[in-house]
Amino acid sequence: MVAEDTTRVKDYLTKTKLTTLDYVINPYVGCPNKCLYCYAAYMSSFSKHKEPWGEFIGIKQTRKKINTFKIKDKKVMISTVTDPYNIYEEKYGTTRMIMEQLVNSEAYLSVVTKSKLVLRDIDLFKKMKHVEIALSVCMLDENIKKKLEPNSSTIEERLETLKILKQNGIKSVVFISPIIPQITDFKAIIEKTKDFTDEYWFDKLNLRSTFKTKMFKFINDEYPIYKSLYNDIYNNKNPQYFEEMNMEIEKYCRENNIVYKNFYAGT
Ligand code: SF4
Repeated sequence: MVAEDTTRVKDYLTKTKLTTLDYVINPYVGCPNKCLYCYAAYMSSFSKHKEPWGEFIGIKQTRKKINTFKIKDKKVMISTVTDPYNIYEEKYGTTRMIMEQLVNSEAYLSVVTKSKLVLRDIDLFKKMKHVEIALSVCMLDENIKKKLEPNSSTIEERLETLKILKQNGIKSVVFISPIIPQITDFKAIIEKTKDFTDEYWFDKLNLRSTFKTKMFKFINDEYPIYKSLYNDIYNNKNPQYFEEMNMEIEKYCRENNIVYKNFYAGT
């Protein structure tokens, strides 16, 4: 059960401190995808909603049109703390309405989703000057996916979505995020998707607050063999695992001519 309401905002555009972006657009407050590892769950504390993360959705509304002059040549991501094509988008169409406003903009638009619903807006993407569509994929096993990402499109549907985007001449990205230690096999994901993917992005699993507790319980229940590794990475703050992963990603991508961005490198 997800509590729905509307949330008045001044502007859909929000300036961001993220170093790789200029603006973000999050059409919804909250995210019903309810991924177990969701880094955005901390947003609950900034929201008026009393329900736990994943059990409320605020549909953002404003009369203000997006100022497309302001974002000319700027990097804009849709979205960072919700899935813009979550199941409520079918009902409310907020993302579609935003995309219609962005269609003639000269911003560099990056759309990130776990949903096949993104295909609905292909007609708009085709008219955009700079747009890339990223499908997040951090595992290929549908059974693990059901446990970690219960409410989003299946992995098979996401791969099919990427193929259709590619066939339509739209830049397709696989966002391998989060890299979940010992669960995410980035090479297997690349092998499976490289024929219809233009670029890969990487980010690592960060854990804090309630989602750290949830992920530790998941590892405890499903992969007790990795308990000490998780303890070392997330409690003892040992950077070794991700430093080695970083080198592996660089080496693999270089040797296989893979175009990529590694968002966690150096952190
Ligand atoms: S899709 Fe993204 S924002 Fe939504 S629950 Fe999953 S990780 Fe969080």
